[in-house]
Amino acid sequence: MEQLDTLRALNEADRWIERVIAQREHLAELEELATLEAELRSLLAALQEAQSSAEPVRRAYVAAQETAQRHLARAGDLQKALAISTGSPRELTQMQRELDQVRERVTAAEDEELNLLLELEPFDETIAAIKARAQPGVARRSELQAALAQLRGTLDEEIAALRDSRAQLAHLLEPRWRQRYDAALARVGTSGAANVDAGRCDGCRIALSPLDYDRFRRLEPGVIMDCPECGRLLLP
Ligand SMILES: [Zn+2]
Repeated sequence: MEQLDTLRALNEADRWIERVIAQREHLAELEELATLEAELRSLLAALQEAQSSAEPVRRAYVAAQETAQRHLARAGDLQKALAISTGSPRELTQMQRELDQVRERVTAAEDEELNLLLELEPFDETIAAIKARAQPGVARRSELQAALAQLRGTLDEEIAALRDSRAQLAHLLEPRWRQRYDAALARVGTSGAANVDAGRCDGCRIALSPLDYDRFRRLEPGVIMDCPECGRLLLP
């Protein structure tokens, strides 16, 4: 292969590697994942808020339930005692009065329990709604993570293969051009050479001055000038 052709091929190889790297960094799945994660974070915050608002009501509800159970057990005991009691009519009346009081407390505690349950309902609905909204997002997140891992793996393999053939091309290029090429590449990135398209360097996209453009067109074969702006080797 002619040295100039090797230089062109090396330049294309470097540009191709840059394109694949850019593709790897700007995958559509990556953007979707970022948006989705932001959405899931805000749903999680809403869920935590709803749960902490519901918490005191839920505790009061459990307490009211326990109170009702306790009074109910006491009423049962009193009723049994009353049934087998051999006490005086006065004692029996006293026991009956106490039983009536305990039953009133049971009713009050049960009312309280019901009220708290009704109060809790909208919180539970909100919590369930947030979870229902988050569920497809969580599933989609796993899909995206798996797809990204696979895509990145494929692109990494492609980049490694491209770098291999790039290294072979670089090896074929004569040292004086390779040094200039590598120096320009290290300085400006993407590629170490550029084409001149309608008087412009297609590396930095800046137009050559009329004088430089004239010089470029009159170069001896085998002589390569650098772009005065970016320093890339200007391919004849
Ligand atoms: Zn340039």
